Amino acid sequence: MGSGYNRAAVSVPPDPAARRSPFALARLAARREALRFLAWQRWRDGSAGDPARIRPGAQVPFVCNLCGTPNRGTLAQLSRETLTCTHCGSNVRFRAMAYLVTKEVLGRPALLASLAPRKDIAGIGMSDAEAYAKPLAAGFDYVNSFYHTQPHLDITDIADAHVGRYDFIVSSDVFEHVTPPVARAFVNARRMLKPGGKMIFTVPFNLEDDTREHYPELHDFTITEVDGTWTLTNRTRDGRAQTFTDLVFHGGPGSTLEMRLFSRKALEREFLAAGFSHVRVADEPYLPFGIHWPEPWSVPMVAYA
Ligand SMILES: [Zn+2]
Repeated sequence: MGSGYNRAAVSVPPDPAARRSPFALARLAARREALRFLAWQRWRDGSAGDPARIRPGAQVPFVCNLCGTPNRGTLAQLSRETLTCTHCGSNVRFRAMAYLVTKEVLGRPALLASLAPRKDIAGIGMSDAEAYAKPLAAGFDYVNSFYHTQPHLDITDIADAHVGRYDFIVSSDVFEHVTPPVARAFVNARRMLKPGGKMIFTVPFNLEDDTREHYPELHDFTITEVDGTWTLTNRTRDGRAQTFTDLVFHGGPGSTLEMRLFSRKALEREFLAAGFSHVRVADEPYLPFGIHWPEPWSVPMVAYA
């Protein structure tokens, strides 16, 4: 290759472009890539990684840890449910689930898109969104599960095959829909984990003292719609009839009924009562992946088996 370059150099007039061999171009590109990475690292480790020190309206560069796409957005745009990755449509919550799996299970935050697969680590999701279920399945021995379809999991009544099998469980905005008593779901999640396993968890929650159960006596119930009004009709365990009309659905009427509004303190009590050793509120920002939690409610939690 070198001799070809020399022959070309003596046979044509001096032209700066002609002197750039493919190797030189590759070296330049590699150097530019390295500089970009170093700048990103400096930015990540420096004050710019702290949301409190970013001025309002400033564009924050971030990499989607699910698909690897570089993005930018203001802190205000990076909210829990807003789709902010231009490629896979991930939001802060989706990215936080994958960020916490890698941080808690591997010991460091990692881009799922460029992770060397760890098929020795077993995980399960509960109706996880495709945007993070797919890269988690590529990176780990992970399966997603569903209440209404296969692979099936009813967290209130788990099969023996699930017991003690997982290094991590991801459950994001599911437990507010589980039929009462919800304590069963926390106990079963704990049973599914290996010793040292972790549950990566979100639900909508407030900062009051107690969870508000909307239908504490739910037993034998149906949900019907008449003239645009949704009604829940329940027969309690001891045979009394109940009717509710102020139903709250997530993801549109008729889909997923909100059974309760959790409180943070009650969640911490539920995890400990279910046998988890401790629980932490995982509201730390991680701006390199476009994750921050400006409000104290409905943030992720990690529970340790
Ligand atoms: Zn993405």
